[in-house]
Amino acid sequence: MAWTKKILRVNLSKGTCKSEPLNMDWAQKYLGQRGLATKYFTEEVDPKVDPLAPENKMIMTTGPLTGTCASTAGRYSVVTKGALTGAIACSNSGGFFGNELKNAGWDMIIFEGKSPKPVYLLLEDDNAQLLDAGEYWGKSVWDTEEGIKQKHRDPLIRVASIGIAGEKGVKFACVVNDMHRAAGRSGVGTVMGSKNLKAVALRGTKGIKVKDFAAFSQATAKGKEILAGNAVTGQGLPTYGTQVLMNVINEVGALPTRNHKDVQFEGAHDISAEKMHEKRASDGKANLVRNAACFGCTIACGRISQIERTHYTVAERPKYQGASGGLEYEAAWALGAATGVSDLEALTFCNFVCNEQGFDPISYGATVGAAMELFEIGAITTKETGGLDLTFGNTKALTELTELTGKGEGFGAEVGLGSKRLCEKYGHPDLSMSVKGQEFPAYDSRGIQGMGLTYATSNRGACHLRSYTVASEVLGIPEKTDPLVTDGKAGLVKAFQDATAAFDSAGICLFTSFAWTLEDVAPQIDAACEGGWTADKLLEVGERIWNLERQFNLAAGFTGKDDNLPKRLLKDAAKTGPAKGLVNGLDKMLPEYYQVRGWTTEGVPTNETLSRLGV
Ligand code: SF4
Repeated sequence: MAWTKKILRVNLSKGTCKSEPLNMDWAQKYLGQRGLATKYFTEEVDPKVDPLAPENKMIMTTGPLTGTCASTAGRYSVVTKGALTGAIACSNSGGFFGNELKNAGWDMIIFEGKSPKPVYLLLEDDNAQLLDAGEYWGKSVWDTEEGIKQKHRDPLIRVASIGIAGEKGVKFACVVNDMHRAAGRSGVGTVMGSKNLKAVALRGTKGIKVKDFAAFSQATAKGKEILAGNAVTGQGLPTYGTQVLMNVINEVGALPTRNHKDVQFEGAHDISAEKMHEKRASDGKANLVRNAACFGCTIACGRISQIERTHYTVAERPKYQGASGGLEYEAAWALGAATGVSDLEALTFCNFVCNEQGFDPISYGATVGAAMELFEIGAITTKETGGLDLTFGNTKALTELTELTGKGEGFGAEVGLGSKRLCEKYGHPDLSMSVKGQEFPAYDSRGIQGMGLTYATSNRGACHLRSYTVASEVLGIPEKTDPLVTDGKAGLVKAFQDATAAFDSAGICLFTSFAWTLEDVAPQIDAACEGGWTADKLLEVGERIWNLERQFNLAAGFTGKDDNLPKRLLKDAAKTGPAKGLVNGLDKMLPEYYQVRGWTTEGVPTNETLSRLGV
């Protein structure tokens, strides 16, 4: 129950679509979505595969709660070997695509091979067809989604597609659904592009059965009550969105600024949630138009924004004058503080372009920050940038480079390599603020020590969505820990990593974890699915997933040496704020982390750990 117990296998090389039963033994061990798809992926794909080779596979996957009436249960993930990182990748998205897939009667779609020409998958309940996407190739996400809905005369079709960035091999391309919701990180859209798969279009009408409807209604209603009564999920996120963090993180001295040269940004307020709410003097309107919620979500953290009509970015480009997905904290930070740009309207424009052409604003903004530092030290000049003056804080250069990157043109094609490859190319690998090739998100680990360990050990490269210790170290959830100390962080990171893997496998949004523990999630899953689901069982599932992902990465060629941070964070002390004088203490946390994980001193899971977890 709750699982549809069916998988669609699409072989793009042969042009075939076949149904097969879900492996229910694996569902009991890995639950769904991130965990279950990773199990399928690691069983079927050689870890050494080139991410862009036809032999790499890509799985679109839901969790057992996806599409049900549990709050936030519209999630799906894309699992593959990441084009940016070469590591296991799982990128999660909201919107309305995941629930549509589940309602069409499928737990996941496994894409294998490579189509000889651009195609899209049209899946209407049991009816799957691969159709010619020639008319959409070379078009943006926005035009593709609109075009497919019009062609099939059905505005209720849900579409996930790649933009030009994914076609052109930008290493951090996304899969975007519902115009501005994205499976954003690690280059999952680049893999989709390498398969000549432009889009997946869905229409599902079947409904979803749960094991015990009365118990499920009761458990999900209780869950919604908890979310509504919580200060973060009931007030902070609905009112300000994730952007509520901009001023908070700047205050604690952990807002990475100008490629992590500084930890506080003088322009933070100008790009904050509060600023998005303010009425502009020029037109009397605010940047923020309204909130937006994904399927079934009772939090509604999403933002819809509009750019000031006279702003140069839209005055000459009318198509950006409408309202669209507004800035979230990570994007506002990467496009803003990381590059030193504090023009809110310009950042909103860049965010629109990221959504329109399908590329990750975090990796993009961070890579521009690295390019700006290369420019500052003279490693690149206007000769390499095609005339762009990449001085930190140059708004016009940022907006022009965003459009170039989305189309993979000019210096944008080099930015599209990501910061690791770019900085290596120009002889300064240390200037890439990344782990396993993926750029940091918006928390400086000198000011929030646990995030250093989080980034260093993350299975998909630097990421805040694998263990958000900011919740504990800054917000006091579930209990307050000191962000400036390393003591106790190994256990904290492990606990967050395992619980997060369980949340990511259920079909719900990770933001519920500000209010819910696994004790709140377990009754919802247990009422929906057979198997006797408890919080302890979920935590064990999370630990199993973490170790499975680790095993894949080790077999792919990563070692304990890749559990590291750039020199800047380990050697250059923070210059201002509460962390002034501190570097990240990874050397103190990592050995203890390996120990609490049951791994060797080289970071390899022991046979005892693997057999305890049944990996
Ligand atoms: S909390 Fe935000 S991201 Fe999560 S499901 Fe709701 S609207 Fe979507």
